[in-house]
Amino acid sequence: MLTDTTAAADDKIRCDACPVMCYIKPGAAGACDRYANHNGELVRVDPHIVLERTVSHGGRLVPFQAGGDWDGKIVHEPSVFVTAIGAGTTYPDYKPAPFIVSSEIDGVDMVTVVTEGIFSYCGVKVKIDTDRYLGPETATVRAQGEAVGHVTTSEYGSQMLSLGGVHHLTGGSKKEGRVTCDALMDLSNCKPVELTIDGGASVVVQAGYPPIVNGVPEERMRVGCGSATIGMFAKQWHGKVDEVVVVDDHITGVLSEHQAGKLLDIADTGIKMKGRRSTPGRYFQVAEPGTGWGGTMISDPLSVLGPFDAKRARPGMTMLMVSTTGEHAAYYELDATLKPIEKPMPADLKLSVERIQENCEPALCTVLFMGGAGGSLRAGVTDNPVRLTRSVKEALTRVTSGGAPVYVWPGGGITFMVDVTRLPAVTLRLSDYAALGGHMDHVRPLASLKDNTEFRQMPSRSPPGQHA
Ligand code: SF4
Repeated sequence: MLTDTTAAADDKIRCDACPVMCYIKPGAAGACDRYANHNGELVRVDPHIVLERTVSHGGRLVPFQAGGDWDGKIVHEPSVFVTAIGAGTTYPDYKPAPFIVSSEIDGVDMVTVVTEGIFSYCGVKVKIDTDRYLGPETATVRAQGEAVGHVTTSEYGSQMLSLGGVHHLTGGSKKEGRVTCDALMDLSNCKPVELTIDGGASVVVQAGYPPIVNGVPEERMRVGCGSATIGMFAKQWHGKVDEVVVVDDHITGVLSEHQAGKLLDIADTGIKMKGRRSTPGRYFQVAEPGTGWGGTMISDPLSVLGPFDAKRARPGMTMLMVSTTGEHAAYYELDATLKPIEKPMPADLKLSVERIQENCEPALCTVLFMGGAGGSLRAGVTDNPVRLTRSVKEALTRVTSGGAPVYVWPGGGITFMVDVTRLPAVTLRLSDYAALGGHMDHVRPLASLKDNTEFRQMPSRSPPGQHA
């Protein structure tokens, strides 16, 4: 896409796509690496992606809607879909968005507005499926030694990171901002990024792939907490072993004391657990967090036990200890002094450990890009920006990110999240667009985008930017 240019005396040309107003030498790119001077012409470095062209070139696509066989079509008619990727931007939108495209779908006149948003207020939320302890909540997360975000509250079976945002992008040193921007770009483009957590682990994160924690690829997400695991598998253990302990950094479960064991009339075993008893058969804080058994730091599960109660325990009693993923498991029998001695695991118990593993889902990293259009980005669509916000809230305008569905947060602004693996624009009825004060004199028909001269490109030197 071409933008306005102003020739300068020394063959530099001036880009006015944003307020930086770069003078760009022949053969060079502007400060953002998105526009370049190619033989005296200002061109977009990354190609503007129209979906059909991506299909014809064998590019990567993801389905937009669940269900049915997907032939790559977002809508039935027309067959050209403008993704916004590579569209450029007019930020801070003192002029209309770069592409305002009209089309007709099922007899209804529609308009699609595409633009790329700038990164200053963007971030990613990262979900890492692992029990392994990555670091304390609120700890700083670093890339190349620079602070790029922090550990936030973990969710069930996953550790969560919050990266980017205006503080790291603009509030620190130049290097911090640049490294943060690079990390966000790579994560959003599904590339691997190595992150280190202060007081914790190093982890390689790549959307759609297993995390690599301290150099070890994670295989499984937990089947449940220790207590849930007892509940799920109690019947399968009944009659095969006297006691089961499911070691978990959060809630360690003990079969004989747990309600699931009580319902099966499993007898007391005299087991003594370390940690804090929450409710019968559920213990908190049996060990420090770490990358060992069940997200604790232990490598010897017996370290979470005190001595067995001699009044209840008996020599020969059997015990299975297992982690929440089934990755770690050991079988014991009490000797004459009531000390647990590790023995080869019986086949039927081995089977139950394999059943835990089978019920664990593959561990993956999920990256949700989060951005907002509460400010001037809306002015690229309408000269009365708040009407766009209202139109989105009233579901007249559908927001997508490169065509992928987004979750729009309730409350002020148009703050959305999108799964970066689904990325390949703002769509609403043409009449609604006119009613909200849209830039009608800049609307162009969809068919005009088929003209290849609209999409000049140079060899790409940077990944595509993010899109709103
Ligand atoms: S869009 Fe990029 S090249 Fe153009 S003025 Fe802004 S920073 Fe410079």
